[in-house]
Amino acid sequence: MGIFGKESRNDARSSDTLIKNSSLYTFNLKTTSWPIVYDAGYNITFMGVEKLHPFDSSKWGRVHNFLLDDKVLTEEETVTPVEATEEDLLVVHTQPYLNSLKWSATVAQITEVVPVALLPNFVVQRKVLRPLRLQTGGSIMAGKMAVERGWALNIGGGFHHCSAERGGGFCAYADITLLIKFVLHHFEQIKRVMIVDLDAHQGNGYARDFMDDDRVYVMDVFNRNIYPQDGFAKAGIKRKVELRCGTTDQEYLPLIKEHLYDAINEFHPQFVVYNAGTDILAGDCLGLMEISPKGVVERDRIVFAAVRGQNVPIVMLTSGGYQRSTARIIADSVVSLRDNGLIGPP
Ligand SMILES: [Zn+2]
Repeated sequence: MGIFGKESRNDARSSDTLIKNSSLYTFNLKTTSWPIVYDAGYNITFMGVEKLHPFDSSKWGRVHNFLLDDKVLTEEETVTPVEATEEDLLVVHTQPYLNSLKWSATVAQITEVVPVALLPNFVVQRKVLRPLRLQTGGSIMAGKMAVERGWALNIGGGFHHCSAERGGGFCAYADITLLIKFVLHHFEQIKRVMIVDLDAHQGNGYARDFMDDDRVYVMDVFNRNIYPQDGFAKAGIKRKVELRCGTTDQEYLPLIKEHLYDAINEFHPQFVVYNAGTDILAGDCLGLMEISPKGVVERDRIVFAAVRGQNVPIVMLTSGGYQRSTARIIADSVVSLRDNGLIGPP
């Protein structure tokens, strides 16, 4: 899929048309709204099947509830997303890939919830894929708000294992690739985008999608000993920091800081996508790292201080991390960003 091929130019033209016709950017942000996107439809709950996956599949709702309890924002000040339509998804995805999701077995494989294979596809669409499409629409909307407001948070999204042609690791839609394509299309002044991916896993989806695209710089810090170990996608990472199982705060935080400042000085991004997975937390059975709750909060503060300190817009996605304690820690982090003056009211 070379960027200079004739076929790719045709693809680019049709994706431009699809972006133009999309309604995901047509909303007007109310002056009283915080650029925080969430909808109750993000959460995946049905017949107990969600309990078979080792994660808290209502994490997103619990984060939002904590933010309401902590009076960071009110229900009315929250931005409600719109579900990404098939046409929106075709901006990045191929039709054969989207068609493959009409098979429950494919969705079971992507979400790693085996019993999903036994459900009729209309149930899978409504209970699993719709929440993910809603979160994807939320990521795209948050991209626009970040440019306009300097920062934005989608309480969901961050499906960094999904590329145009392939899903995996619970990621069915390439929301990061989509949000960047929308931003580059709509905001001519933005020509350099940096992805800062601090989820415990290697972000191989967008890395494959932007492999040959010099407008996108990838900094990825991940545990090299876990999924996906995608050697091909590693070629798409400009700044790669590979960690091992059991990495602690003392090692992690100085590394993040040093590499982030170096990356910013090297690339001078005009827009940053921050994939803020919390599966780096000690006790996470997938991430296998030993970062403390305080370490997670400090990590997010370092990233926002570095990026916003350069007046660069940043959009944060919550990505992986599904322990029961995770939602509280994400909310603590948002409160800390507010208390440190790194995010604020309109
Ligand atoms: Zn992860």
